[in-house]
Amino acid sequence: MLESLVLQRAKPRCMTMGRYFFNEEQLEMFRRTLLSQREHLLEDADKTVTRMGDANETFADPTDRATWESDSTRDLRIRDRERQLMDKIDAALARIEDGTFGECEECGETITVGRLKARPVTTLCIECKAKQEADEQRSNRP
Ligand SMILES: [Zn+2]
Repeated sequence: MLESLVLQRAKPRCMTMGRYFFNEEQLEMFRRTLLSQREHLLEDADKTVTRMGDANETFADPTDRATWESDSTRDLRIRDRERQLMDKIDAALARIEDGTFGECEECGETITVGRLKARPVTTLCIECKAKQEADEQRSNRP
């Protein structure tokens, strides 16, 4: 009777512990890294918008215009990539909040701290990432 009560009480705590892969200090470090990456992205996005606004005035020389168009296409592509990265950063921050940060979404194993330090937005452990890249290479082959 007593034993089953203890088990019942112990179980949810174990599950909660299992969901958190890093201590509060490590999570705080990752949160700060992600937030500063996010800030830099926003700064770069501001610069891009300002530059495109300036370029709108330059139409006299057709060569200039062509240059501007290819520049702006490039800017749009960069902004697209920035937006994707921004989404990944937001998702990583959400994972820190809900305690799943650092869990490989493929195999459920813990992603190493070193890998997360280099790339905090990652959702795959090194093995699954390598496997994914190998699969991609296979499917890209003619
Ligand atoms: Zn994995």
